[in-house]
Formats: sequence, structure tokens, C-alpha cells
Amino acid sequence: MAVDFTANFTMTIDGRAVESPATLQIVNPATEEVIATPPDATREQLDLAVASSRRAFAGWSATPIAQRQAAVASLAKALIANIDGLSQLLTREQGKPLSAARAEIKASAYWLAEFAKIDLPVETIEDSDTALVQVRHVPVGVVGGIVPWNFPLTLAIWKVAPALVSGNTLLLKPSPFTPLTTLKFGEIARDLLPPGVLNVISGGDALGPWMSAHADIDKISFTGSTPTGRRVMESASKNLKRLTLELGGNDAAIVMPDVDVDKLAQTLFWGAFANSSQFCLAIKRLYVHEAVYDRLAAAFVKIGQAVKLGDGMAEGTMLGPIQNRVQYERLKGLLEDSKTNGHQFLLGGELPAGKGYFFPVTLIDNPPDDSRIVREEPFGPILPMLKFSNTDDAVARANDSEFGLGASVWAGDYQQGLAIAKRLQAGTVWVNQIHALSPHVPLAGHKQSGLGVENGVHGLLEYTMPQTLSVKKI
Ligand code: NAD
Repeated sequence: MAVDFTANFTMTIDGRAVESPATLQIVNPATEEVIATPPDATREQLDLAVASSRRAFAGWSATPIAQRQAAVASLAKALIANIDGLSQLLTREQGKPLSAARAEIKASAYWLAEFAKIDLPVETIEDSDTALVQVRHVPVGVVGGIVPWNFPLTLAIWKVAPALVSGNTLLLKPSPFTPLTTLKFGEIARDLLPPGVLNVISGGDALGPWMSAHADIDKISFTGSTPTGRRVMESASKNLKRLTLELGGNDAAIVMPDVDVDKLAQTLFWGAFANSSQFCLAIKRLYVHEAVYDRLAAAFVKIGQAVKLGDGMAEGTMLGPIQNRVQYERLKGLLEDSKTNGHQFLLGGELPAGKGYFFPVTLIDNPPDDSRIVREEPFGPILPMLKFSNTDDAVARANDSEFGLGASVWAGDYQQGLAIAKRLQAGTVWVNQIHALSPHVPLAGHKQSGLGVENGVHGLLEYTMPQTLSVKKI
């Protein structure tokens, strides 16, 4: 049956469409208009969903992995078949340009298709005449997936694919700001999975805490901010839930003096500003050697001036609005802080009047290391450009952060870049490239950027527990 991507937003519980007595109001950040009123799940509905996930677990975990992989691969095809409706809906609820929304749907499908090819490893420690000792990996059980609003579908799929391939059932909760695309994904998946294998529920601020404290959820896979991650960890302790936490970042990029500035400027710029910088792995502190600082700053100003900011549905829009008012107000606070402290602006800093949470590309010229714009994760398009003259100093400043998600090094001599990369405290360090993400490449947050891993075999194993089988051959 054809899916209507503009109306009838329902949860998916036990393979059925479910409404709720209460609703959420979803606002298009480009127009500030309410575009939909999806369900706000009650506590009883959460319990029904968890019970459904539990019932489904017995059958799904016993289903051969090849069959589970085939079901996950079918979800990839279904996403592509619905890409027009899904991407328009994603732009309307999230704000990103339509081309970026399409790219997000495609990436989500790619992740599903590739995860469907990954097998669970079995390790044989001994296989002799007298003994067999093996370690296999069994699913954890019922998993709760909690997702933020910056890449609503992709970050959900990063949980759906490994959870389902490894034999768990998943209860997925999108952000209250961006539930619509995920609810429609749940609707599409109803025909492709046994009831209860994937439940999708939407709700307000109470739903996430209910999930992380729920006695019958075995694992939480959470993507969001570091303060919320701490709260999830605390409430998950009640029944010793397994946890994967993908949290905030304040990624440093170090630009060495031997780079070709003209060649790299665009890549670096979009490494910082893609998705209006609402990107956990965006460049958030740009350390540039003094020999090339002025040239790179000038190139950034030129690129930034040409950026078309607007409604993601409009032709030619390169950056959309900030996704929600709370985040927009937070960014305004950071901007005011920089102004009050007399920071120099290379570009931006003035907010446009009118409807929509539009925030222009803003570049701050070498603010002090202890300023808020350097210490905090802005999660929006304000970038501090920071000057250095000595590599050891750049490394020490880059590492001086509670976060450790990603980092990048840009050097004409890539061997030197690699040597610097090895000194950086981050789960992923790119050299002369950025955001080279893949379903096959693990992504882990160091320090307070997270716990555990997503993607690759390492990420798949996060949804399992090792089981040792020790046999005496008598
Ligand atoms: P958030 O922490 O406010 O919310 C994330 C999700 O958690 C939402 O679904 C929310 O409803 C839910 N939630 C809120 N309070 C909860 C609680 N007490 N218990 C359980 N769930 C709760 O984050 P956000 O503002 O939606 O997203 C932005 C943050 O996410 C940034 O810090 C960004 O760096 C981070 N992020 C990290 C990654 C990564 O892979 N490391 C990826 C994307 C975003």
C-alpha cells in the first residue's frame, strides 16, 4: 500500500499502527509552522511495546542469521523505493536541504545493505581430540534505541541494522523534535519484519528516561549529548543494562603549514559547516599554522559569503535553519558571549529577521583558548579559527578537552600528518580527509564522547554477549 508521507503519523507496535491520546507538535524550523501532530506515547504504550519486543525476541533470535540479514537488506530496498516521500518529509521536519535529505536516505539504505553482509564471528580457542572450546556471540535481548535530531534516520539505522542482524529486537525512539521520518520508516517496515521485531514509538521528554530505567529492556543504544548520556548511564544501572553511548564532540582540526590552502579550503569549510554544523563529528575547533592562517581565513570568508542559507525545500539552498528553537537560543547565547568578550568576527554574527531559525555562517578570529566558543560544543555554524606556531602546542591544545570523538590533521606530508594523528586523543582521527564514515569502519568516542562502538564488526558485537562453549569430547 502506498504510504502517505504528509499525514497519518502512527507508531508501530507489534506490527500494527498505534495512535495515542496525547500528541506532539512538530514544527518546520524554516517556517515555524506546525506540520504534524504525531503520537506522544503513554507509559502503558511503552510497556505494551516492550512486551511485544520481548515476545518477538524468542523467534527472531532463533531465526538463522542469513534470514535476518535478508530482512535487513529488504529494508534497504524499501527506503530507496520511498526516497522521494521520505526525503521531502525529512527536509520539512529537520530543515536540511532536500539534496542532503536524499543523501541521508541513501546513506541509511547503504548502511542496511552493507550490515546485511556482516556475519557474527565464532572464535575457536581449542579444537583437539579431547576438547572443543569456542566463543560465539549471542544477542542481548530487547534493545532500546534513542536517537537525536541532527541525522534522524541515519542515526536510527545505525542501531536498526546491527541490532536486527545480530538477533535482538529493537524498540526505537526518535527525538521529539524529529520523529516523522522514523515513524514512516516504521510503517514501511511493518510488512517486512515479523511483528515486534522493530517497534517505533514517539513521545516527549518523559519517554527517554522511562526507557533507560525500564526493567525489561536489556540494552540502551543512545546517541545524543554528553549530559543526557550521563543520565542514561545512571538509570541503566538499575538492571545493569548494556550500554552504547555515542555522545558529543568538540573535534579539532590541525592544519600544517605545507598544505595547499586553495585545494583544501572547500573540504575544510564543509567539514565544519555541513548540516549547519549540527554534526557530532563537525570540525568545531580549527587550529591553523600561522604561516597559512590568513590565507585560509580569507578563503573561508569567500566561501562563507557565497553560501545560500534558506528553506531546505527551496532550489539552491546550501544550508538550512537550526533544527529547533532551544538549540537556536543556545547558539544565540554563545554568539552574545563572544560579542561581550570582544572577539573579532571574520564573518557573520548578525541574525536575519523574520520567520525560521536561520543562523548564518559565523567565523571567529583567534578567540582565547578558555572562551566558551572554544571549550563548549556549539552544534551550530559558529567556528573559532585558532592560530598556532608550534606543533606540540597545537597537539596539546587539541587534546585539552573533555571530549574525544573525532579529529583531523591536514599536512602536505601525510607521514607527518599520521605521526601527529597518533598523538591526538580521539576515537577517529582522519588525515587529509574528513567524515570518511563507513558501515565497515568502527566509530568510538573517547573520554566523555562516549562508551562503546558503532559500525563495523566491533559495532555489531556491541549488540551481543560472548558465550563460551567448553566441550569435553568423551
Ligand atoms: P539530547 O541528548 O538532548 O537528546 C537525544 C535523545 O535522548 C532524544 O531522543 C531525547 O528525547 C532523548 N533523551 C533526553 N533526555 C533523556 C533521558 N534523560 N534519558 C533518555 N533519553 C533522553 O541530544 P540532541 O540535542 O538531540 O542531539 C545533539 C547531541 O547529540 C550533540 O551533543 C551531538 O554531538 C550528539 N550526537 C552525537 C553523535 C555521535 O555519534 N557521537 C551523533 C549525533 C549527535
